[in-house]
Amino acid sequence: MEEIGFLGMGIMGKAMAMNLLRNGFKVTVWNRTLSKCDELKEHGASVGESPAAVVKKCKYTFAMLSDPHAALSVVFDKHGVLEEICSGKGYIDMSTIDAETSSKVSKAVAEKGGAYLEAPVSGGKKAAADGQLISIVAGNKGLYEDILPAFDVLGKKSFFLGEVGEGARMKLVVNMIMGSMMGAFSEALALADKSGLSPQTLLDIVDLSALGNHLFSYKGPTMIQNDYSTAFPLKHQLKDMRMALALGDENDVSTPIAAAANEAYNKAVDSGLGDLDFSAVHVIFKVTEPST
Ligand code: NAP
Repeated sequence: MEEIGFLGMGIMGKAMAMNLLRNGFKVTVWNRTLSKCDELKEHGASVGESPAAVVKKCKYTFAMLSDPHAALSVVFDKHGVLEEICSGKGYIDMSTIDAETSSKVSKAVAEKGGAYLEAPVSGGKKAAADGQLISIVAGNKGLYEDILPAFDVLGKKSFFLGEVGEGARMKLVVNMIMGSMMGAFSEALALADKSGLSPQTLLDIVDLSALGNHLFSYKGPTMIQNDYSTAFPLKHQLKDMRMALALGDENDVSTPIAAAANEAYNKAVDSGLGDLDFSAVHVIFKVTEPST
């Protein structure tokens, strides 16, 4: 396969690029904070000096960036993707962003003759490292078919949904569920603890019951140890809840459960927990409200 470009060496991008290298792909990486490319370089990656330089060198360029602002900046700013994207090249943004942002990028790339896919993923740091992500893809079908070998290495399954926007919206709906579940779980763990019950016993009961799921069984044990080492930054969960609520508004769908969870993530970010794992939302439920 052709050399692959990869923009964004955060928690996810780094693990994904490393996985591509391990599986024999030639990869050129770029990150705004350049030092985050060092480890990739040690493992055989080339380093590009700008998004434009990466796109110039590579037929296909992936991006995994924090939010809509970053996604737009890497494409439209000076030395951005748009300067070098052209016919015969593909750009695949795997960041979790809203459909409007994705459509803006898609349109600009198409105007230069390039092909575009949005491909947000479900699955975190470990799934990224192990090639076990689920890619939620939409956009140019031809590009999707051309880069399937890369998707097959990055994840266990990819879904092609259709038009640009459908992948972005699906990912927001998925993360809205996750954010609400984590909010409910955190609240219950705090309630169990404060009412004199063993949180570990609660975990064991939930695990064996119809409520058992991978998220709770994976995060629960660390949460009750107050270990919130970052896998999925809480500030990104807040970003996703906000975009999901906006999607609800656009479609006149009431989302009161997600709205309540959103408030919890808001409070957590205000309390300085934004860079911890999203499970740190647990902390705000543990704080006893002063009695009036
Ligand atoms: P992260 O560790 O915070 O990394 C964010 C990346 O975006 C970094 O490379 C950062 O560069 C870059 N960035 C931020 N603002 C930028 C800007 N203005 N211009 C250029 N680059 C910019 O985040 P992550 O956990 O890897 O997540 C990346 C995306 O995947 C997010 O959309 C997230 O919602 C989604 N996601 C994450 C997970 C997860 O479990 N972590 C799972 C599924 C989906 P610097 O290093 O220079 O700051």
